[in-house]
Amino acid sequence: MSKRIYLSPPHIGSNEKALISDALDSNWIAPLGPHVDSFEEEMSDYLRVGHACALSSGTAALHLSLVISDVCRGDIVLCPSLTFAASANAILYQGATPVFIDVDPNTWTLNIDLLQKAIKIFSPKALIAVDIYGQPLDYDTVIDICNKNNVIVIEDAAESLGSEYKDSKCGAFGQMGVLSFNGNKIITTSGGGMLVSDDKEKIKKARFLSTQAREKTLHYEHIDLGYNYRMSNVLAAIGRAQLEKIDSRVKSRRDIFQKYYNALSEIDGIEFLKDGQFCKSNRWLSTFTIDSSKINTTVIEIIHALEEENIESRPVWKPMHLQPLYNSCEYISTKDDISKTLFETGICLPSGSSLKNSEQEKIIDIIISNLSLK
Ligand SMILES: *Cc1c(COP(=O)(O)O)cnc(C)c1O
Repeated sequence: MSKRIYLSPPHIGSNEKALISDALDSNWIAPLGPHVDSFEEEMSDYLRVGHACALSSGTAALHLSLVISDVCRGDIVLCPSLTFAASANAILYQGATPVFIDVDPNTWTLNIDLLQKAIKIFSPKALIAVDIYGQPLDYDTVIDICNKNNVIVIEDAAESLGSEYKDSKCGAFGQMGVLSFNGNKIITTSGGGMLVSDDKEKIKKARFLSTQAREKTLHYEHIDLGYNYRMSNVLAAIGRAQLEKIDSRVKSRRDIFQKYYNALSEIDGIEFLKDGQFCKSNRWLSTFTIDSSKINTTVIEIIHALEEENIESRPVWKPMHLQPLYNSCEYISTKDDISKTLFETGICLPSGSSLKNSEQEKIIDIIISNLSLK
């Protein structure tokens, strides 16, 4: 059996080992230290955002963003249905109520008309704005609507580090931005995340809450409920080496997308997720949908065919309103349930920045040989 091709494996560069060694040699083996400080500064510079707090995961960053926004029991938080569960789980951690919104069929991001409808009906406290598969939202419009209605915008940029909307990087939109450095993301610290914001007080609060909310006394004094969410100095060392390479990682993923696109987009019944207007996606994962009226194959069949060759691929995210955990929640959609259709017809292809040309050609060949046109 040939070596397994993963969907989005870690891509380690040349400087990770040296920086980890530095962390070990300096004995900063703690959820704080000079690499944590530097990683935060370098990420703030990269995103052109004022402040950043490195954390143990993107999920922790999402949770803290809601704590800092004073989201609590009785509050409603909007979230696109088409996302990874972590986006919504943070709402439940706070005992708040998620309301799910369907997405636009062209961009796969939040449907703006439905957002406006949901704001009118539910008077939500906050919105988790998810840049799905690296695709930014139309932030000018979304932020304008949310500002007018006093809805706090938290950008879940876990999948969109390196993406751009107009002249700004993803992560920089809304009151706070959430990044993930999980092993499958565009850059990784094995596990890790970051909360970023232009509001210094919010990031100061995140640092305080993520290190057990200890008051400034000699003994351990606690007024607030704290968490153990800070990033380790060893992992921040990996993150710094990874961030050095971000531009080339984004370029690789965009090239991989382009190659899939060139090979398959002419086929009637295959529709790729395209860059939205003013958007430049990092192409975290290359995705397309299959129109079953034109093609006699299902996503599941293609996934199985790839799996037989030891190649990992996945369906598009199963929407939250179809998850047993969330299926009793409110869901705002048109009569066409777009996120459900995307789940049923969409596939995510191997897109790691270390994917070899020959590997990608093999993937394309397998897909083509499994398509039977109607
Ligand atoms: C990966 C991901 C997260 C969670 O990040 P972790 O670092 O794995 O906790 C949150 N939201 C989305 C959209 C993600 O893809």
